[in-house]
Order: sequence, then structure tokens, then C-alpha cells
Amino acid sequence: MTGEPHVRSIDELDVSGRRVLVRVDFNVPLREVPGGGREVADDTRIRAALPTIEELRSRGARLILVSHLGRPKGEVVPELSLAPVAKRLGELLGAPVALAPEVVGDRARALANGLSDGELLLLENVRFEPGEERNDPELALSLAELADLYVDDAFGAAHRAHASTEGVAEQLPSAAGRLLEREVNTLRGILESPEHPLVAIVGGAKVADKIAVIDRFLTLADALVIGGAMCFPFLRAQGHPVGSSLCEEQDVEHARAALATSGEPGTASLLLPTDLVIADAFAADAEHRVLDGVDVPEGWMGLDIGPATAAAYAAEIGRAGTVFWNGPMGAFEMERCAAGTRGVAEAVAGAPPHPGLGGGDSAPALARFGLEDRVDHLSTGGGATLEMVEGRELPGVRALEAQGVSL
Ligand code: ADP
Ligand code: MG
Repeated sequence: MTGEPHVRSIDELDVSGRRVLVRVDFNVPLREVPGGGREVADDTRIRAALPTIEELRSRGARLILVSHLGRPKGEVVPELSLAPVAKRLGELLGAPVALAPEVVGDRARALANGLSDGELLLLENVRFEPGEERNDPELALSLAELADLYVDDAFGAAHRAHASTEGVAEQLPSAAGRLLEREVNTLRGILESPEHPLVAIVGGAKVADKIAVIDRFLTLADALVIGGAMCFPFLRAQGHPVGSSLCEEQDVEHARAALATSGEPGTASLLLPTDLVIADAFAADAEHRVLDGVDVPEGWMGLDIGPATAAAYAAEIGRAGTVFWNGPMGAFEMERCAAGTRGVAEAVAGAPPHPGLGGGDSAPALARFGLEDRVDHLSTGGGATLEMVEGRELPGVRALEAQGVSL
């Protein structure tokens, strides 16, 4: 490596026999179990943390895992206990995972101090503590007192300056876990030294969250492919009627500015839909039809890109050297609005050699089509990815770099 900013990796920590506090992202969906209780409905994020956990265990570390789950807002919410996560993690590791009944305090400390080499303890949901989200230095200190070293593997939480991500990193010798390291390096690779052409695909529904991402890719990418509800502010700005499609007035202004920028030399070519799947309601049993063109009639809404658009997007992706994808092309959860996202997913899965994906709903979309193993890298952090693309420094990553030596 050169003098680039560099996150310390766990190679640089001597963990044997030491208590290592590991921030993981176990913010997984739960479901009710018939007869009472909850279980993990999707363990993708738990599996994503296994390489770091297993490596540290095999190197003789005593692991104290810490994560948030949902938004308990500083109060103990029993439905958001990490108990189902401890159970699932134990099954995946084939080893017992003790759950501390609290985040910090005497009982947590006693359990942490009682660990032997290779053993694991999971602390209770860190957002049960009111100090977590406000990055309270006292909470950071209490967390630091449980351990000798700190490893951050929670890329999905790295854009938050919280006590268990940023605060504690300043209190202990710290390093990035394998997942966080891979996420940051992959994204930096895409942003700083992509193999051209770089094709960025941006879709989804949260248009306002992604305006800055569009701006960045207009200057970085060779082609910027727009789908999902994201396309309607653009189509509206071009003067097309959008019917009752999702389209906020302030986003139309942003889209107009992006369209103006995209005409300038050296910017990405902007691809917009030329046909759509429209429906008369946002429902699986609504009437659906393919619209040849993009003038959405009154009383109808666009819920997917059309077949000609999907084919054009797939062709563009097929020519790519690097692909970045964030957000589905339509309301893919409904089968009749899934074809556009499926077409793009298949093109991304088939596109050599360096696809990179921006997490969020692109991951479940790929999983739905059985393609999740066919891409190089599937990000676990939607929000963190978007902020990195925008060019913002992530507090969780900066905290690890602050101590890191530039190699
Ligand atoms: P991500 O999580 O990948 O960043 P978003 O959260 O912004 O993406 O958006 C994902 C959601 O967007 C999906 O649930 C999908 O149903 C919805 N969506 C996509 N296209 C449309 C559309 N044309 N109209 C309404 N909703 C859409
Ligand atoms: Mg989302």
C-alpha cells in the first residue's frame, strides 16, 4: 500500500488470551415463533461476521460481541433482546454463546472476566443504553473496561458516531474486522481505481437519500443507470406525465440539476427507462400492463422498468469493467413488478470481473432470484455504502484510521 488512508486490520493485533470487544452488525429481522418467543428470520448478517469471529477464536481471543438490534431508543425493550441472535450464532459456530443480561455493568464484567480463550459472550442490545446513540463517553469507557482490545466489524453501523462504534475505538487499541476491511477496500476500489467502464445502477424508492450518490457517479462513472421510483423525478423533469407514480416535487428539482450536469463533457451518460410496467394500484392483484413509452396515464403508476429498458440496461452492464448497484429497478417484492430487477440482477451476476453492490434492498433482490453467490461482493451496509459513495468519511472507519499507521 502507499500513503493512502489505511484501516488497521486484525493482523496487527496480538489477541491471544486477550479480551476482545467486537462490534458486529447483528441487526437482523426477527419473526415470532408459534407458541411464543422469537427467532432470527434472516441470518445473512450473522454469517457475514463469522470469518472475523472464527479467526479471532482460533487465535485464542476471548470474544465479547456487541451489537444493536432495531430501535429501542435507549430503553430495555424485551422484544428486541439479542437472545434469538445468541442462539442462532451458537448454532452456526457449533459452540455455546452466552448472552449477558445487560450491556455494561457488574454482571457483564463478571461474565467477560470469566471467559476462557476461544469462548464467546454476547452483550445485550447496545441500544438499550441511552448513551449509545449520543456517543456518551461514559458508556464508551464502560464498554472499553470490559476488554483489552477493540475490533470493529460492523460496516452497517460505521456511518454512525455511536459509543460502540466511534467512542470505544478511541479508548482501546483497535482494528477493523475482516468484513469491515473488505467492505471499505472494495468500495474504495470502485470509487478510486475502477476498471472502466464503471457502470453505476441506482434504483429504489428513497430518492432523496440518493441524490448525492447520483451527483458523485455523474462525475465518477462512465454510465449511470436509473431505475426504481428514482426514475420518475427525472422523467417528470423531462416533461413526461408520471401519473400517480412515487415522485416528490423537491426531487424533480434535483433531477433537473442532474440532467443539466449530465450534458457536460466528462460526465457519465445517463440512462433512463424507455418503457415501464404500470399498475392501477400498489398491489399484487392490481391491473398491470407494459407501457411502451414513459408517459404514465392518469390513475396509473410505474412499478417497474419495462422489458426494452431491462434489455438495454443489461447490455450496458454487460460492457462494464466494474459495476456498482444500489436499489431495485421496481417493486420487485411483487412478482409482476420483478422482471426489471431480475433482468438487471442477472446481468450483474454475469458481469465480470469486479461487481460491487451497495447493500440495502439489492441483496434481498439477488437472494430472491437465487443469484447472491454469483457476485463478488454483496455489501451488508446500505446507509454506510451510500455515505462512502458521497465521499463522506465514516466515523467508525475514521476511528480505526486515527490509530492506524499508513503502510
Ligand atoms: P435500497 O434499500 O436498496 O437502498 P430503497 O430502500 O431506496 O433501496 O428502495 C427499495 C424499495 O423500493 C423496494 O421495497 C421496492 O419495492 C421499492 N420500489 C422500487 N421501485 C419502485 C416504484 N417504481 N414504485 C414504488 N416503489 C418502488
Ligand atoms: Mg431500503
